[in-house]
Amino acid sequence: METITYEVKNGLYLNITNRCPCSCTFCIRNNDDHVYGSEPLWLDHEPSVSEICDAIDQKDLASYEEVVFCGYGEPTERLDALLEVAAYIKKKSPIRIRVNTNGLSDLIHGEKTAPKLKGLIDVVSISLNATNPEDYLKMVRPKFGIGSFDAMLSFAKDCTAYVPDVVMTIVDTVTTKEEQEKSLQICNDLSVRLRIREYEG
Ligand code: SF4
Repeated sequence: METITYEVKNGLYLNITNRCPCSCTFCIRNNDDHVYGSEPLWLDHEPSVSEICDAIDQKDLASYEEVVFCGYGEPTERLDALLEVAAYIKKKSPIRIRVNTNGLSDLIHGEKTAPKLKGLIDVVSISLNATNPEDYLKMVRPKFGIGSFDAMLSFAKDCTAYVPDVVMTIVDTVTTKEEQEKSLQICNDLSVRLRIREYEG
């Protein structure tokens, strides 16, 4: 049985793909099959848009604070499906919709993707992870190479024009105080929020 939806705190999380162009050194996929006690998040097949919508229909959206595209993989790998599902949710509920992403959607799809989020996504949370291209490459190990860091920052900047709330995150245990200060400076320059989050492995 596929785990398409799972709950974390007050959020309804959607697991729509296990694909990801990265291999982060701290990725929870390396450590465990479960997140917050959910069923295993490895998918035998990627659920179709209608399977995802059916899974959402099993839930009472009014009992959650937000819907979050997250899961064991990079949700923008399936950007078209993600947007279709977001449009479906928007039609049936005013619930906030967030995408947790590595920010490499432009490189995955070979085009600027932030404009597509307009009117469908309320919050984009992008993993900043590091403060320069070299450290990012070492930690995130994206298949696109050294240009990935700048592409991710560019995506974040673009999002500020189309998404009401843009957040970048770093993990507290794998960053120094100096890196956290530099991260804040990067976020201020991009006009996005910084969230220093706990490691969830
Ligand atoms: S971007 Fe996310 S899913 Fe992909 S390897 Fe990194 S932590 Fe794992």
